[in-house]
Amino acid sequence: MRQAWLAEFLLLAFWVSLAALLWVIFGGAFGWWLAAALSVSGARHIWQMHRLESWLRRGRRAQPPQSWGLWGEVFEHYYRLQRRYAKRKKRLARVIREFRESTAAMPDGTVVLDSAWRINWHNSAAVRLLGLAGNRDIGQSITSLLRAPAFDRLMREQAFSRAIEIDSPVDHAGRLSVRVVPYGSGQFLMLARDITRLQRLENMRRDFVANASHELRSPLTVLGGYLENLADDDQIPADWSAPLDAMQNQCRRMTTLVNDLLELSRLETDAPAEPDERPVKVAELVGRICNEVRAQVAGDRVIETDLDAEIGLGGVENELYSAFSNLLLNAIRYTDSGGRIGIRWSRDVDGRGRFCVSDDGIGIEARHLPFITQRFYRVDLARSRAQGGTGLGLAIVKHVLQRHEAQLEVQSEPGKGSEFCCVFVSSRMRELTTKEARS
Ligand code: ADP
Repeated sequence: MRQAWLAEFLLLAFWVSLAALLWVIFGGAFGWWLAAALSVSGARHIWQMHRLESWLRRGRRAQPPQSWGLWGEVFEHYYRLQRRYAKRKKRLARVIREFRESTAAMPDGTVVLDSAWRINWHNSAAVRLLGLAGNRDIGQSITSLLRAPAFDRLMREQAFSRAIEIDSPVDHAGRLSVRVVPYGSGQFLMLARDITRLQRLENMRRDFVANASHELRSPLTVLGGYLENLADDDQIPADWSAPLDAMQNQCRRMTTLVNDLLELSRLETDAPAEPDERPVKVAELVGRICNEVRAQVAGDRVIETDLDAEIGLGGVENELYSAFSNLLLNAIRYTDSGGRIGIRWSRDVDGRGRFCVSDDGIGIEARHLPFITQRFYRVDLARSRAQGGTGLGLAIVKHVLQRHEAQLEVQSEPGKGSEFCCVFVSSRMRELTTKEARS
């Protein structure tokens, strides 16, 4: 480049020297000679500019004009830039083509949405799964094409962290899992997966558990009845009493297990029930649970309550009964005798309702916490069994809370104790007058 500038200066010097030479030979005013020389130099620049402009006009396929000096460098430089840009464009086009080809081949429906949720692009699986009308639907709003309340809510609340399940718009027996992922500047990628088969398998599993539990119930009742009669019978030899006791215990365990399984499958299968007509009086409900538990299983553990009687809850009383009693029973099961258990029902600063059961029992190691609401997950199987646990209590709690739009928060430290809190959204909270609370 420096050489090109040098050549350009030398050329200028040549024009000036030529003007001087002509002035010496022919005389006259030096200024005129210099002006004439500079005009020739300017004309050269204009001509080179014209070549540049007509080359650019001819498009990037045309060869650059040949020149030397500064103009040669400019042509060369521009030509190199053009080639680099073309290469990059080609690479980008290839990436886009590959992305489209791979998403087009995907069995899952893929839709690219703009910031106003209009369809920019979709693959053929989206046509099959979502019933889109091919290119005619490009530019249409996805919410007006896919009419499902859960999808509407997802888009309105922009709760994109989870996938939702909706009925298939093209097959009334089909089910889809839909996920929306925001990316770039205000764009969204929507993925739809056919989960009909999975759903059918899950339904089969649920039906099987429900039917098996149901079938087990009657024989268990009969067995339990006979065992009770035998235990009360004076003619039975004394050395039978220990085995009879053990049989009765096992029979009771199986009955609790079958009842828990039935309850769980009902919670999983049935659509969430409408909240009871009257708000649930949580303080009264918890009072009842405490009385039953104190009389039957609490032993010498101390149960302290701090319940706001004027806060009601929009929910289903028998489901809440089940969840709250499971939490209290767990606190008793995993706290040694003489331990303290606290129950609190209050509203937090955000207006949400908090039902918390705390204990100073054995606690849970942090690594177990993500799994304790899974069916049959037990940290200490022997202790759970010895205390009459079924391994289903927290799974029932989780389902009841899901059906009440509530969350379970758990804090625990081994050797120090645990706190299980059910957090209810403020829209579920009801104010009770003192009269209502007491009635
Ligand atoms: P289980 O019938 O065995 O109590 P759950 O589903 O109710 O089953 O609880 C799952 C596991 O979580 C329990 O086996 C126990 O290890 C642990 N757990 C639940 N509540 C407590 C608690 N309050 N303190 C310590 N561990 C607990």
